[in-house]
Amino acid sequence: TGIYYSINKLGDQHKIPTRPDFDIATYVLSHFPHPHQAESKIALIDSATNQQFTYAWLQRSIRSLAKGLYHTLGVSKGDVVFVLSPNSLLYPTICLAVFSIGAILTTANPLNTKSEIAKQVSDSGAKLAISAPEELHKLVPTGVPTILTSRKPNKDSSSLSIEELIESSDHLYQLPQVKLVQSDTAAILYSSGTTGTSKGVVLTHANFIANVAFLRWTVDVSSAQNDVFLCFLPIFHIYGLSFFALGLFCAGTTTVVMKKYEFHAMLQAIKTHKVNNIPAVPPVILGLVKYTSKAGFDSELSSLRRVTTGAAPLSKEVGDGFRKRIPWVELRQGYGLTEICGAATFSPTHKEAKARSGSSGMLIPSFCAKVVDTETGRPLPPYREGELWLKSPSIMKGYLGNVEATAATIDSDGWLKTGDICYFDEDGFLFIVDRVKELIKHNGYQVAPAELEAILLSHPSILDAAVIPVENDEAGQIPMAYVVKAVGSELSEDQVIKFVADQVAPYKKVRRVSFTSAIPRSTSGKILRKNLVSQSKQQFISK
Ligand code: AMP
Repeated sequence: TGIYYSINKLGDQHKIPTRPDFDIATYVLSHFPHPHQAESKIALIDSATNQQFTYAWLQRSIRSLAKGLYHTLGVSKGDVVFVLSPNSLLYPTICLAVFSIGAILTTANPLNTKSEIAKQVSDSGAKLAISAPEELHKLVPTGVPTILTSRKPNKDSSSLSIEELIESSDHLYQLPQVKLVQSDTAAILYSSGTTGTSKGVVLTHANFIANVAFLRWTVDVSSAQNDVFLCFLPIFHIYGLSFFALGLFCAGTTTVVMKKYEFHAMLQAIKTHKVNNIPAVPPVILGLVKYTSKAGFDSELSSLRRVTTGAAPLSKEVGDGFRKRIPWVELRQGYGLTEICGAATFSPTHKEAKARSGSSGMLIPSFCAKVVDTETGRPLPPYREGELWLKSPSIMKGYLGNVEATAATIDSDGWLKTGDICYFDEDGFLFIVDRVKELIKHNGYQVAPAELEAILLSHPSILDAAVIPVENDEAGQIPMAYVVKAVGSELSEDQVIKFVADQVAPYKKVRRVSFTSAIPRSTSGKILRKNLVSQSKQQFISK
């Protein structure tokens, strides 16, 4: 039939609840360790301060915050709560409290600029914002009522903090009685999808429940209570959110939380807390390969047992290099996207991951896939390359307020078009080989060319522009701009780079510029990106 099915099944212990009146917070809390263990079992440790939260504390803080948001701040079902913060011990509490009262979570990269944030606040219709103190200035212009993730160091601050709200709401009120069904919206996360600028990906409680059930399936639940995970992946992204705010709590693990990724702080945290498990992205794997060429590294990494990589392609060479240098650490790969609420494939075992280096693993339970010929639309057999289409209970409802983009992404049979080019081998292992969508991934973060092109076109001396990815060892890809400048303009490459850099988050910066006489376009006006990608390869080879 040309359809690939998951050969893996969710065992009884991971079954997705079919009751319609079930929400993701109830699902996660129902998998917390038993009350007698929860009082002493550590859920979260702050890598910088060593502050620790037990599962019992986490449960109480979620309930208190839910009460505070609902009773004190009047947040009710369907209200959008915008979170702007790097990782922190309270981030998971915020997510679960928001979900539990039927409010809708939207998260953003704290590196985003004021205008990027204003756009998301307005697009998502946020009613309340929760901000790290250092990011508050970016929210002030939006006029959205904002509370802080932690107390401001200067005492004169009038803003309420999450900590204060948790403390003051503990004994005050009854838990909110909100009727929720699985089809209710739980979160709006932002992704540019296959084309254009960032769009709100509408994810339901059912999507998250399915995702977490799969995630539990990938973790060995019987031994997970002894695992120590390290969290530096951003919780605002679906990868971090599904692991660190939801999935791992269902397996009873301990997580060491870093505010953000920093290589030496990561090594220190591994050593101090005897971390054995790290969900990571390819640049981290590359960093470890380079680091381990130095002597004396093995004692630093001796506690590590498993590293998972996803969010961007990991080259076979880097994967093999990692396995050679740190042979006691399992390296497994997953593939996913925001639009399917997390992962779609995962390497089932270390042995298989090693034997099929370069593969992103096999379909996880409940997923099916088609590899579609981009010319003919026909499904393709193993080893033939085409666009990956996916179907599963975790596929998004659609793009917020954008029927056209939704219809272009999910067909009438429910297949989601990923914009990734892949093939399956005869045993069902997926190999991602290319991307047909416009998306650029820099250090695992999304960069939408359309967004950068709009900024470039706003420059008075730029007549036309196109942004394409250029492969890069360290960051995966970097954005490069082809620019047509006005006749007689003195505009320099550095000026173009600065013009964009002043208006976007640092990870979105255009890092290379080439002036050209015309941008190649199809008769319908679409940029012929493939032509520019080949042109850039020629240019760099000849340099
Ligand atoms: P995001 O929605 O930010 O998670 O981005 C999803 C996109 O990241 C996918 O459509 C792929 O293009 C890319 N991606 C994620 N995981 C992998 C992987 N294991 N290998 C190659 N590309 C990946």
